[in-house]
Amino acid sequence: MTGELRPVSLKREGDGLKIEWSDGTTTFATWRHLRTNCPCASCLEERNKPPDPFRILSPQEVAAGAPVPVAMTPVGYYAYQIKWNDGHDTGIYTVEVLRKLSDTKQPDEQS
Ligand SMILES: [Zn+2]
Repeated sequence: MTGELRPVSLKREGDGLKIEWSDGTTTFATWRHLRTNCPCASCLEERNKPPDPFRILSPQEVAAGAPVPVAMTPVGYYAYQIKWNDGHDTGIYTVEVLRKLSDTKQPDEQS
């Protein structure tokens, strides 16, 4: 890793985000996975609490249905702010976070 790794292309694909990286790899993350792992302080705190067996979905989550971004705004050169359909918009996804949350998906091999 040179530390220069950055996304060269971000595309909505199916129920998630496809990212092409400057090192030639392509990764994919579902919106649900990105939303569940929102890096903002209040979500981090929420995830660090002991699980509440009676809370499966918050009323907001139930109302909004499956998580879908309504906006994805670049923040500087190395991060993206995602605004979700449940109204949550404080998560800033850095390039590192996006890389960590997405899985490598090899481009179709040419034969
Ligand atoms: Zn959050």
